[in-house]
Amino acid sequence: MDGRGMLSPEAPVTALKNVGTKRAALYEKLGIHTVLDLLRFYPRSYVDYTSPVMASAAVDGESCVIRGMVLKKADPAPIRKGLVIYKLMANDGISNFWVTIFNNEYAYYGIHTGQEYVFCGKFSSSGGRFQLALTSYLPAEESKALRPVYSLTEGLSNGMVVNNMQEALRCADQLEDPMPRSVLLKENLCQLRYAIENIHFPKGQEDREIARRRLVFEEFFTLSLALVRLRGREKESTAVRIAGVEMQPFFDSLPFALTGAQQRAIREILSDLEKPWPMNRLLQGDVGSGKTMVAAAAVYAAAKAGFQSAIMAPTEILAAQHYATFSKILKPLGISVCLLTGSLTPKQKEQLKEELAAGRCSVAVGTHALVQSSTVFDNLGLVITDEQHRFGVEQRRKLAGKGESPHNLVMSATPIPRTLALIVYGDLDLSILDELPKGRQPIDTLVIHSDKRERALGFIRQHLEMGEQAYIVCPLVEESESELLAASQYRDRIVGFFSGMKVGLLHGRMKPAEKEEIMAEFQQNRIQLLVSTTVVEVGVDVPNATVMMVENAERFGLAQLHQLRGRIGRGSRKSYCILVSDNEGEENRRRLKVMKSTSDGFVIAREDLKLRGSGDFFGSRQSGMPALAIADLFADTELFQAAQNAARDLLREDPELEKPENSAIGVIINRLFDQNKNGWN
Ligand code: ADP
Ligand code: MG
Repeated sequence: MDGRGMLSPEAPVTALKNVGTKRAALYEKLGIHTVLDLLRFYPRSYVDYTSPVMASAAVDGESCVIRGMVLKKADPAPIRKGLVIYKLMANDGISNFWVTIFNNEYAYYGIHTGQEYVFCGKFSSSGGRFQLALTSYLPAEESKALRPVYSLTEGLSNGMVVNNMQEALRCADQLEDPMPRSVLLKENLCQLRYAIENIHFPKGQEDREIARRRLVFEEFFTLSLALVRLRGREKESTAVRIAGVEMQPFFDSLPFALTGAQQRAIREILSDLEKPWPMNRLLQGDVGSGKTMVAAAAVYAAAKAGFQSAIMAPTEILAAQHYATFSKILKPLGISVCLLTGSLTPKQKEQLKEELAAGRCSVAVGTHALVQSSTVFDNLGLVITDEQHRFGVEQRRKLAGKGESPHNLVMSATPIPRTLALIVYGDLDLSILDELPKGRQPIDTLVIHSDKRERALGFIRQHLEMGEQAYIVCPLVEESESELLAASQYRDRIVGFFSGMKVGLLHGRMKPAEKEEIMAEFQQNRIQLLVSTTVVEVGVDVPNATVMMVENAERFGLAQLHQLRGRIGRGSRKSYCILVSDNEGEENRRRLKVMKSTSDGFVIAREDLKLRGSGDFFGSRQSGMPALAIADLFADTELFQAAQNAARDLLREDPELEKPENSAIGVIINRLFDQNKNGWN
């Protein structure tokens, strides 16, 4: 029987022609089991055969499309075993160009002299000779559309997917559109069938854009519904309600005016603290945006209302620094602060824990020592975790378990778009510091070869002579055993250059107390130059430091370099970041160029994401959230906003998604929930 008319979206991919168990297994790898899965497998990009360029206008090293008449075909040239290069010459109307084909005899013999084709490939030109390394081609008369390019897996070619897709589309009219009709009309979105057909085989850019817009919207809409639902789950009540605290004394005591963003974040937090359920808020702000002051305001409010706060920092250095900051601001306001870290003697710890348990100390700053079971609070009302990516969800929860549902504030310097934050941190509300304190000057970033190191050291010395301070981030070494050696040898090598100045050394193998001592000396300008491994990476704040030199800059990730660089440019004086790298690799050059061209953490995060692929951003898929198939978290923020609003509106009208026109999407949301019950922390 001819089953052609009966293809259904629910059928397994093996229902398609040429898909046997072998190809089905390849599709399986891509997460495609059914015909519907295949239809929902969107192209990664397109080749636009509709707008070829002239060879003389093509850009060296870039992918391009050129239309040309084939003049002659050279004989196949076997280069070595298993590699044959085929060449043919074509003319685009003005210039001749060579098309080279690697190992693809099928393509070579499919192309005929005297015929016109549209060729796509990587273009190069040298000595007036144009060359195109072929990736795909079409006969000229078929080149009236965009051609989809899919993410493939070994053994599966783009052509195979295209063929299967064309067949699968025959059941596009059976697809049930999960989007409520009212939303489609209101948002001016096309129907699912049109979207699916045109995301795969659009006739032009415009069709593709209409299709894409609808699919991105749908993706965000589904996600938003799920998120609103998630947050709407019954909130446990808290015994801690912090309201009516007079904040003016706190504001008056600050040495500067808060930025608008800081004020807004503080308002959002204070309003959370009044609620009868615990705050769960993420405070996100780029390095130097002043998150600590926002935290201090929350701590002040809690303390004045009679509740204790715990601040958890990822390193001893940071804990010590927060302790110093909080002490300076809060002690004059009559609030007691203590520091609890692993490096205290057992006796000191004992004593501090007693103070905490008795409620004599209002603010405890510490490292993971804080979460140990023997630490007991009298009335813990607020828990703050800094640089949260270093802490697991589990640790956060453990600390929160020490009070009667205390309020939670998480601080992160990873500047990710709102969209992504909402997805990664699922259940957290979000406050964003998108404004740096006034008077900051942009940091100048230079990239140099190591043969210019002496000059760079001279530059650093000049700045030290002007009373400023500097960091040198040491070359990275592989084994931690030699970290100490490498760092101290490095310091010995350069110390002669800085006679009369104190050069300190900081590395991860030091005892916490030693590290603290060094950091304190640096903070007080008793050390002028700090040679350090990456332990300074997170959070350290010494506004007088204006120069940072990073050795082996190629070994660091973009986000990490951004964090490192964030240690300078924190005061009103001009700061300089010198990245030393001898690596000429294209990717490295590109990365360092990004560092040179921007100090916007947001832009850097986006580039980082591009270079590493978005999969990484979700880390261990800690969020349990579904990955996005088509939406671009950076580019599509407006659509996200619109989809989120539409989702809220819909839930207001139909909270359980029970109305017939909403039932399809309701089913999808429920399925998402079942799959992710445990993942969505
Ligand atoms: P981060 O967000 O990176 O944790 P910090 O809280 O360490 O930033 O603040 C960076 C520096 O900016 C600190 O020296 C801090 O005292 C200072 N600072 C914070 N807020 C302001 C402000 N509103 N005006 C001027 N300086 C500020
Ligand atoms: Mg900080």
